[in-house]
Amino acid sequence: MVASGFKLLIYENFIRLVVQKSSSISLQSELGLRLRTRVLDCYATAELYYLKSFQRPEVLINLRGRSAGVAELQNNRLRFNAVLLKENETEFLAEVVPHEVAHLLAWKLFGSAIRPHGKEWQQIMQLVFQLPAARTHSFDIKRAAKMGYFYTCACEEREHALTLKKHNWIKGGRRYICLSCKSHLRFSRVDDNLVG
Ligand SMILES: [Zn+2]
Ligand SMILES: [Zn+2]
Repeated sequence: MVASGFKLLIYENFIRLVVQKSSSISLQSELGLRLRTRVLDCYATAELYYLKSFQRPEVLINLRGRSAGVAELQNNRLRFNAVLLKENETEFLAEVVPHEVAHLLAWKLFGSAIRPHGKEWQQIMQLVFQLPAARTHSFDIKRAAKMGYFYTCACEEREHALTLKKHNWIKGGRRYICLSCKSHLRFSRVDDNLVG
């Protein structure tokens, strides 16, 4: 009994470590903290406006490619693009975060039959957040868009997005290692939507 209890404890610790590694590295950074704080501020503003409480969403910074953010309505989850966040922090926090939060709020307030950027969403942007209801974000996506070469390492469920320049350096013999697991990056795939 004691032995099996011990094994279970180890196993649980292992699971916890794996979960932390794959989902919270960038959220624990100062930038990740500023992002989460901005999400919470948006919710506080909305609760004051509607005099109603909303369940806080899960926040992940694991989006790649051209989209700055995605609101997963059924999961009550927000996913943000780390590259675009780093390169456009001010505009990202000012516009992208409330844009995506407004999608979750519109779903909670008005249900699933509304159009994504319809009048309900626009009303939240304008009246609650006092922002223009712009459908897209205007900042430069060129650099992020070129990170379309994906590499794997020994970490579980992890991909590293690299630029064409680094991809060519690797082809020329240079080696990159993952800072977490210290293993060499191995090429896995190219995303033509990102590099084309
Ligand atoms: Zn949108
Ligand atoms: Zn790794």
